[in-house]
Amino acid sequence: MYYAGIDLGGTKLSAGLVTETGEVAAEVVTYDHCTGDEQEIINCMVRNIDKALSRVHAGRSDIRGVGVLFPGHVRWPEGITLTTSNLPTLRNYPLKDALSAALNLPVVVDNDANVQTLGEYKYGAGRGCRHMVFLTVSTGVGGGIIIDGHLYRGATGTAGEFGHMIVEASSSVTCPCGNHGCLMAMVSGLALRQTAKRTSDQFVHEGKPFELPSGCLDIDDLDGHMLSKGAMESNELCQSIIKEFGTYIGIGIYNVFQVLNPERVVLGGGLMNLPDLFFKTVQSVFLDKAKAMMYDRLDIRRGELGGQAGILGASVLFDA
Ligand SMILES: [Zn+2]
Repeated sequence: MYYAGIDLGGTKLSAGLVTETGEVAAEVVTYDHCTGDEQEIINCMVRNIDKALSRVHAGRSDIRGVGVLFPGHVRWPEGITLTTSNLPTLRNYPLKDALSAALNLPVVVDNDANVQTLGEYKYGAGRGCRHMVFLTVSTGVGGGIIIDGHLYRGATGTAGEFGHMIVEASSSVTCPCGNHGCLMAMVSGLALRQTAKRTSDQFVHEGKPFELPSGCLDIDDLDGHMLSKGAMESNELCQSIIKEFGTYIGIGIYNVFQVLNPERVVLGGGLMNLPDLFFKTVQSVFLDKAKAMMYDRLDIRRGELGGQAGILGASVLFDA
């Protein structure tokens, strides 16, 4: 028997079959769903699951249930998709019921970061602990909370939105939510260009000469890969940006620590490929703030599952 996991992104739709021991047996990835309406998105999910099934010579009756990761708010447990910036036709849409009717299988729909949290908790860097927080930084910032071995969803399913914690209230940087100084506005793929510009202006203001990292011709073109490479090559501008990112993540983790007292914080997402300088800054900012209020060590570590955290987590949704 398998669990099916569907990672529904703004550009990518991936459907995987996961065995009961947490192995991905087949995965089908397509990119043509995002221009269609809600029915076309459902059709793409069904097609990808059927294709994955045919690769392992199985049928829909071999699936226990389907878990869907949704990139936005989800009303739990109804599986109504509330808001999303990438798939506007799915605002206020009963995704769980529609997909369940199309496949004739039980379906669970949850926020993507919540599902990745479950994946890391059961199969990745969260193994062996009871209280864990997952923080993922890619284009945006998301997260999830495990309390006493269970995913905590809050009253209506929107707990763990660490990206909108305000970490710099006086900041002029606006978050997509409209507030100023949210963690997502200060640290994410979305924030990189603004941070790079601000940091280079600061260098100029202080009369400090700087160079762009190799391969980067214009500050506006700086991406995560160039940033990491630049920092490893001792590029001061890149190191300064990474230290700023690490500082805000350290402040964010400190806030989470004070509220939830987790035993472990797992960091995932694209920007987590940043060099050790990032992690060292996160650790030192966190410890500096926590100081005498730290009684036991908080274990901050990188996620282990990368892009597969979601599909694996979808298989855990049925026990969570
Ligand atoms: Zn925000």
